[in-house]
Amino acid sequence: MSEGIDRKGLAKRFWEKKPLSQLNVKEWEALCDGCGKCCLNKLEDEDTGEVALTRVACRLLDDATCRCVHYEIRHQFVPECIVLKPDNLDTHAYWMPQTCAYRLLWEGKPLPQWHPLLTGNPETVHDAGVSVRGWTVSEFETPEEDWEDHIIEEPI
Ligand code: SF4
Ligand code: SF4
Repeated sequence: MSEGIDRKGLAKRFWEKKPLSQLNVKEWEALCDGCGKCCLNKLEDEDTGEVALTRVACRLLDDATCRCVHYEIRHQFVPECIVLKPDNLDTHAYWMPQTCAYRLLWEGKPLPQWHPLLTGNPETVHDAGVSVRGWTVSEFETPEEDWEDHIIEEPI
């Protein structure tokens, strides 16, 4: 989600030692695995509440880096982009990707072994095939009525 994630100088396995609500900003940001999947457009069934991710990416997502190209000023372009925080995770966890570190910890699950916090290498999320690298389609070129044709199966 964010530009270059700083994971230096953090306490070892800090996410197992304190609740999400007590993480400092750097720890919170470091939890992001850099997969880019929260920047995919979603379809939500109004009746069942079920959420499906599509490969149609937000206009600001660069799917080579899996990062937002204008993260700091993104709300000028995408006002609805969520700022995920400990105090709104309860509201958003249900639509977050199934592999998202925030969702996993919120569900009481461990981080996956490919998570950069465990491997020390930001590339491992891509090597594991979990990121959006190279497989999104543009929301400018994909009319909303066609998004259903681009639903992805999770987890990937
Ligand atoms: S889905 Fe979660 S882990 Fe992946 S980029 Fe978004 S916030 Fe980070
Ligand atoms: S503006 Fe788009 S690309 Fe940027 S963080 Fe938000 S959803 Fe992701």
